[in-house]
Amino acid sequence: MPQVAQHDERTPGFDTVLIANRGEIALRILKACKDLGLKTVMVCSEADRQASYGALADNFICIGPASAGKSYLNKDAILLVARMTGAGAVHPGYGFLSENAAFSAAVEDAGMVFIGPTAQSIATMGDKIAAKTAMIAAGVPCVPGPDSELPDDKAAVEAIAADIGYPVIVKAAGGGGGRGMRVVTDSSVLHESISTTREEARQAFGTPALYMEKFLQHPRHVEIQVLCDVHGNAVWLGHRDCSMQRRHQKVVEEAPAPGIPVDIIEPVATACVTACQQIGYRGVGTFEFLYEDGGFYFIEMNTRLQVEHPVTEMTSGVDIVQAQIKAAQGIPLDITQVDVVTEGHAFECRINAEDPETFLASAGTITGLRLPSGPSIRVDTHVHAGYKVPPYYDSLIGKLIVHAPTRAEAIIAMRRALAETEIDGISTNLPLLRALFEDEGFAAGGTDIHYLEKWLKRRSVS
Ligand code: ADP
Repeated sequence: MPQVAQHDERTPGFDTVLIANRGEIALRILKACKDLGLKTVMVCSEADRQASYGALADNFICIGPASAGKSYLNKDAILLVARMTGAGAVHPGYGFLSENAAFSAAVEDAGMVFIGPTAQSIATMGDKIAAKTAMIAAGVPCVPGPDSELPDDKAAVEAIAADIGYPVIVKAAGGGGGRGMRVVTDSSVLHESISTTREEARQAFGTPALYMEKFLQHPRHVEIQVLCDVHGNAVWLGHRDCSMQRRHQKVVEEAPAPGIPVDIIEPVATACVTACQQIGYRGVGTFEFLYEDGGFYFIEMNTRLQVEHPVTEMTSGVDIVQAQIKAAQGIPLDITQVDVVTEGHAFECRINAEDPETFLASAGTITGLRLPSGPSIRVDTHVHAGYKVPPYYDSLIGKLIVHAPTRAEAIIAMRRALAETEIDGISTNLPLLRALFEDEGFAAGGTDIHYLEKWLKRRSVS
C-alpha cells in the first residue's frame, strides 16, 4: 500500500525532486526518488550534458559551464530551474551545496523543501566551536580542550595548552576539508603556529576564530549514522570505520567498525541521538569521532548524506536515501531503536579515476568496463563503456560494496569483486585497492588513520 505523507506546515508535500548534484550520487538519489514514485529534475554542467544517466531523469537541464562555481554551486540557477519545473524539493547530495546553510535557507524561502537539515542546524555544526558546545550539552564525549575561541592574550593561550598537555592541535572554527589545523608539539612554536593558522583561517574560511584541543596520536576514525524525522524521533543505524585515509580522504570504509564493544559505543550513540533531538535536527547525519584506547572523541558532524552510506544500508537494511526523503516529506520514522538490527559486515571501496602511484587525476574515455556481480556485491556508479570522465570534478567514478556474514568473508568477497572489475582507457586506483585487500594488517582490522599513508610509503620504497 502506498504510504501517505503526513505533512505539517514546516514540511509541505512534494512530488518532484530537483537533484543538485552529479555522478554516482545524483544517480543514487534518482533511483531512490523513482522507487518512492517521485518525479526528478536533474541539473548538470555543460561538461556533464552528454552523461547518459541524465536520460533517466524526467528533466535534465544544463545550468552552466563546466566550472562548478558557475553550475553545481550556482544557487540562483538551481532555484530558477526548480521553480520553472515545479520541483517541490531540492536534494543536494554530498559536496557542492550540501552543507551550505544559505542554500538551505534560500530553498525554503522559495517555498520548497531542502532535503537536509535546517539552515540553523547546518550553521551550528559548520562552526566547530558551536558544534562542540552543543555536543557537550548532550553528553557526547569530545576531544579534551575548551569549547571556546582561543583568546588573544598570550599567557592565557599558554595556560590552555599546558592544561591540555602537548601535543595539541590548533583548529579553525570554520575549517573543513582537512584544512585550517596545525599540530603543536611544544610551547616554543605555539604562538607562531597560532598566528599562521589564524591567517589561513581568515583567508580560507572568512573567520579568524581558532580553538585548541589535545592532538590524539594514533586514533581510528569511527562514525555514527543517525536518522531523524521532523517530529522529534531519532535513531542511530550503526557505526562505520573510515580509518583508511590518504590526505584525510577516505579510501575504504566498513560497517561495523571492528572490535568495538557494544557497551562502549552504545552510550556514545545514544548521546548522539539526544544531541539531534536537542538541536531539532532533521534527516540524516553523521557524527565523526576519533577513537583511541577505548575512548570516543567527537570531531565533527556532517549534516548530509555521506559517500559511505551504502555500508550502513547493507548492514542495517535501511535505505538511507529513501528514509532521508521521507523525513523531508514529514513522514514520521517507521522504526524505533529496537527495530534497528545490524547484520554481517560490509566494505566499500572508492574507485577513483587517478594514477595508482602518483594519485594524479586521470580524465578521459572509459573504453572498456567489466563490473563484478554475484551474491553480496553492489556497485554504485554512473559510468559505462564509452563514458567520458571529465577533468573538472572529484575523481570518484564508482563505489564497490560487498556484504557478507563476517568481516573475513567480506574481505574474500571484496577480493573477488576487485579481481572481476576491469576499467580500460583511464587509470584507476584498482591496483592499490587489490593490494590493500591482500594486506595482513588491514585484514586484522582496527588500524589507525595513519596506516594507509605509512603502507603507501613502505610500498613506494620497496
Ligand atoms: P575537517 O572538517 O577539515 O575534515 P576534522 O575536524 O574532521 O576537520 O578533522 C580532520 C582530520 O584531522 C581528522 O580525521 C583527523 O585525522 C585529524 N584531526 C582532527 N582533530 C584531531 C585531533 N584532536 N587529534 C588528532 N587528529 C585530529
